[in-house]
Amino acid sequence: MTAVVTSFKTYEAPRWLLPTVECLLATIPPGHAQSLSHVLLTDSDSIGRGKSARVRGRKWNRRDCCGFYHRATPRSPAHVVVIVDNVLRGLPHALRSIPFFREHALGRTIYHEVGHHLDLLVGSTSRPGEAAAESWSTRLLRQHWRSRHRISRAVLRVLGSVVLPIARWFGASHSAPHRTGTAG
Ligand SMILES: [Zn+2]
Repeated sequence: MTAVVTSFKTYEAPRWLLPTVECLLATIPPGHAQSLSHVLLTDSDSIGRGKSARVRGRKWNRRDCCGFYHRATPRSPAHVVVIVDNVLRGLPHALRSIPFFREHALGRTIYHEVGHHLDLLVGSTSRPGEAAAESWSTRLLRQHWRSRHRISRAVLRVLGSVVLPIARWFGASHSAPHRTGTAG
């Protein structure tokens, strides 16, 4: 079971944050995230200055990223870092009270970073790296909606073509994969 750890310097985490992240991790198919030690929820003020690894042709300010994947090293196990204030920045407060939108915003980033882990472990039909992580993100998010909320494929199509574009219109930061970097 992947643990969830929190460490915020200035961000005041909403009460729904931990249950939402645990709910997202719970619907990852058994065995897929087994070797992932933990997910660290943190804020941009906790992230040191500097640039991310190269993602989609350029390096990004680490503090502007939504998340990182750190592969296992002899010193530390594989884990994911989620910069919660950046992930939720584009999501209006009114929409945060609706589980669908907050699960989607956090799910995109968490599943993208978990996708980097699965890309190394399992592989993907997409190109290794960002494309594979995005592919896993989409797959895990669909799996989440189906198993947790019993949302059918037809409803998912409507959500994908109508509701999510509206959410993106409000703000792109929670759905912009280019702001999600990897490290390690
Ligand atoms: Zn990535």
